[in-house]
Amino acid sequence: MPVDRTAQTGQYILLRNWIYIATACIFVVILVIGGLRFDPAESVTNSVAVDDSLHTGADFEVDGYGIEADAFETSSGRIRRNQTFSDLLRDVGIEYPIVQSLIESSEGTFDLRGWQAGKKYTVYRKDNLPEYLVYEHNAVQFFIFDLVGGKVYRDSRPIRIKRHYAQGSITGSLYQTLLDQGVDPTLAYELSEVFAWQIDFYRIQQGDKYEVIYDERLVGDRTISVGQIHAARFTHMKDEYLAFHFDREGSVAYFDEEGNSLQKAFLKAPVKYSRISSRYTGRRFHPVLKTYRAHLGTDYAAPTGTPIRATGDGVIEEAGYRKYNGNWVKIRHNGTFSTGYLHMSRIARGIKKGVHVKQGDLIGYVGSTGLARGAHVCYRFWKNGSQVDPNREEFPSAHPVSEENTDLFADLRDDYLHQLDSLAIMDSVPVIVNSSIPAP
Ligand SMILES: [Zn+2]
Repeated sequence: MPVDRTAQTGQYILLRNWIYIATACIFVVILVIGGLRFDPAESVTNSVAVDDSLHTGADFEVDGYGIEADAFETSSGRIRRNQTFSDLLRDVGIEYPIVQSLIESSEGTFDLRGWQAGKKYTVYRKDNLPEYLVYEHNAVQFFIFDLVGGKVYRDSRPIRIKRHYAQGSITGSLYQTLLDQGVDPTLAYELSEVFAWQIDFYRIQQGDKYEVIYDERLVGDRTISVGQIHAARFTHMKDEYLAFHFDREGSVAYFDEEGNSLQKAFLKAPVKYSRISSRYTGRRFHPVLKTYRAHLGTDYAAPTGTPIRATGDGVIEEAGYRKYNGNWVKIRHNGTFSTGYLHMSRIARGIKKGVHVKQGDLIGYVGSTGLARGAHVCYRFWKNGSQVDPNREEFPSAHPVSEENTDLFADLRDDYLHQLDSLAIMDSVPVIVNSSIPAP
């Protein structure tokens, strides 16, 4: 009996693989033939209403486990609080040796620490005897426990990629606007990442608008997440910001219409011609306090009065005096990064809270105010609110599209621009159109 079941599982895995390959081929063909052409008239007729239930997080009802459900009686439930794997199996009526075998078989396939209350499970019975248990980890991934053979299989539902086109005007926050327009609001987060260095999404306002071409990832008919953003235009206070995804340049992903990286690199140091006098460390002997303390910054020694420069574009978050920091300036660069510059002899004229600065702008002068011995600037760096050592962080490089890829990029950009323009013309409320891939 167990042999049959293994063969069955193997067969459906084989079939599944074929489906993957077929889907991939269809996808490529669509991309090549029609994906990059976009006709607004056609898209209006193709426009589909957005099903709100896609976003409610309701139960996942597609039985895509690949088990021939007709051959079994099935019953589903959710893992109860404090109900362990063994508890459930015992409740289902599985003998201890099989439970033990399943636990052993789980090693490397299913991490029992990932067993969670609230997750869905389904038991498959034949003539009242339990044969399979499926544990659904998430919308994509599930595990099949062979209750007769004592084996565990890990599998996933095929993910479809669907190209979406969305455009709209800002009515509230970007998140709320997308929600109101029936667009997956996590797109707001993805967009804010793409434009992190260009737009402060806390400051977007009514009248701002967007057009975006992106992928959605689906399992069955259910959207599970926003995939790749291919191109976007965001009009903010009448200024246009463009982003084109181009994957031939290593770690750099998004470029503007001129092929410049949207990602900006930080200057290595806030002062020129200096030396590092103290590095970032979790623990060091403090020369003034005479105790061991963490040093969450990098000290650059330089003569008093040496100009200190902003290491990146941003907005001044604080500029003033504090007991330990002395005269200091903190800059918020985007949703992720902030930097601080301590012990200034003087803050530069015009540098105060709310002021926008560009990379390289003068913000103050080296000094030794606050808790400092000797003239230096203590350079601090925050990533998502926590202090980090910028010398140990990996930042995506910010080089433009390379010369050899210039033509390729230009073609891609023109295609996307054409599509974005077509979207902009359809100045209507929620428009979501797609060229979708047939369901496998
Ligand atoms: Zn320091």
